[in-house]
Amino acid sequence: MAPILAPAHPPNSPARLHALIPAAGVGSRAGTAGPKQYELLEGRPLVLHTLAAFAQVRRLASVVVVVAPGDDRLASGEGYEVVPCGGATRAMSVAQGLDHLARRGASDQDWVLVHDAARCLVRPEWIDALIDTCEQDAVGGLLAQPLTDTLKQEDGGRVQGTLPRRGKWLAQTPQMFRIGVLRRALAQAGEDVTDEASAVEALGLHPMLVTGSAQNIKVTWPEDFALAGAVLRSRQA
Ligand code: C5P
Repeated sequence: MAPILAPAHPPNSPARLHALIPAAGVGSRAGTAGPKQYELLEGRPLVLHTLAAFAQVRRLASVVVVVAPGDDRLASGEGYEVVPCGGATRAMSVAQGLDHLARRGASDQDWVLVHDAARCLVRPEWIDALIDTCEQDAVGGLLAQPLTDTLKQEDGGRVQGTLPRRGKWLAQTPQMFRIGVLRRALAQAGEDVTDEASAVEALGLHPMLVTGSAQNIKVTWPEDFALAGAVLRSRQA
């Protein structure tokens, strides 16, 4: 993989691609003793499975992992830099990571692929498909999956209505946008947006939906660890 620290970007040179992996959450829904991104899966911390997939994407100029301030459980390694600049929400962690990339010489025109550390089943070919689809686009886009289940609106534990599922997608990551646009979008959207696309949409832009895979789950609930482990074992078999 290319060097971790991207050299300053000369004007008019082609846009580069960076990966930004927020890993500063506490994972309170996972039921684990510590943050879920460090839980062992098939013998290694979950976040290292995520990084292994990104290591196989040859076009990346840099990979930055955002961890919580004071978190020393993950050190920078070959092909990735760990930066302890996480914030109280995912959006804040991403915004601080983007500031770091900009300080390291990334330009507003460079692309960034933001990917949840907790989506440890991501495959390099899905990341490459997102890049291939979005690289020539004016806005960018995200991996996503068309909704297959029926969608219910709940109130007080009872169904209040059924929402039409036609045209509805589940947003996954990576999500790929120009660094300058994304910084502006997050600054305007505030700290509570749960993905990059929603901040970019609030600027009036329309990100592309690129079909991902049902396997690209975000490990969230206790039972997700066994599922992720089974998928990893099936890939080794
Ligand atoms: O909590 P959730 O699973 O939705 O978080 C998605 C990703 O964002 C995880 O990889 C998590 O570590 C990261 N995150 C973060 N900073 C936060 C909250 C979440 O980097 N304050």
